[in-house]
Amino acid sequence: MEKTLVILKPSAIQRGLIGNVISRFENKGLHLIGLKMIQLNDEILNIHYAHLKDKSFFTDVKESMMSCPVIVQCWEGVDAVNVVRKLIGKTNGREATPGTIRGDFSMSAQENIVHASDSLSSAEIELSRFFGKGELFDYKISMSSSLYGRDELL
Ligand code: ADP
Repeated sequence: MEKTLVILKPSAIQRGLIGNVISRFENKGLHLIGLKMIQLNDEILNIHYAHLKDKSFFTDVKESMMSCPVIVQCWEGVDAVNVVRKLIGKTNGREATPGTIRGDFSMSAQENIVHASDSLSSAEIELSRFFGKGELFDYKISMSSSLYGRDELL
């Protein structure tokens, strides 16, 4: 099973989309194994968005991400990183396919509702950035056999 990081951004919190977005991941069959509300700061965003530091929108994105608390989550499932990236859709909400989270809830490249790790290696780094020891839970999923074939769980 893979684990991946999702952040509900201020655009999701302010627009009252928390339940809607979480439902998308739950309905798909992913499992929530960690969740908390946190206030981001410049220091952690400089690390998290280091790949954007030369972009014209870097400061605006950071300001937006600090404008209110966010909700960080860890979702688990087979191929969870790719499954979640497909569920959220393209970065720019106006270009994201309808049916994806960004495609259904966003009109913006910046205010795009949700962050999700883009690879297994970034998921590992990002999860350790936002969750401490004891904040991710390992529990038995009783309906695994309704979600996956036996060979998918090997
Ligand atoms: P993604 O979030 O889809 O992985 P990036 O890592 O490229 O995309 O960008 C991180 C975040 O920076 C985006 O989710 C969005 O909030 C913001 N962003 C990306 N591109 C733009 C842009 N052209 N204009 C404004 N904000 C942007």
